[in-house]
Amino acid sequence: MGDLESGHQEIASLEDQCASRGMRMTDQRRIIAQIIEQASDHPDVEELHRRAASRDPRISLSTVYRTLNLFEEAGLVTKHDFKDGRARFEIIPDAHHDHLIDIRSGRVIEFRNEEIEAIQELIARRLGYRLVDHRLELYAVPSELADEKASGKPPERNRPSE
Ligand SMILES: [Zn+2]
Repeated sequence: MGDLESGHQEIASLEDQCASRGMRMTDQRRIIAQIIEQASDHPDVEELHRRAASRDPRISLSTVYRTLNLFEEAGLVTKHDFKDGRARFEIIPDAHHDHLIDIRSGRVIEFRNEEIEAIQELIARRLGYRLVDHRLELYAVPSELADEKASGKPPERNRPSE
């Protein structure tokens, strides 16, 4: 049985975490930190800039870029490439999750599946490694069979015939 390391009882805000890493927090950086902390939709730089600029129009796109790089280098923010040509950002989550990307709408859905987590660890172990991190991205289109699947009945036509 693995020891699940949690121990994050209280979650410091991104601003506080930056400050505790000795980062100089200007007003603009504070706003950018708040914007990314509030986002749950994995926004790209342009979108983060739009949101930041609506709070303070003096915030430039390049400031958002630089600030995101700082946060990333400090290990507080992570960058994703969901294959749509835009780097997407999110706070490094407290609990690990994976992503399903709806390639039609660009919507990003977060999920966690314990079986997948366990299988990945097993694969690493069998190859002689101890897994320390992973990324899993599922690219998908909405299924017309969503209702059927929810009822738990496997679709007839997908059954292998013998
Ligand atoms: Zn996420």
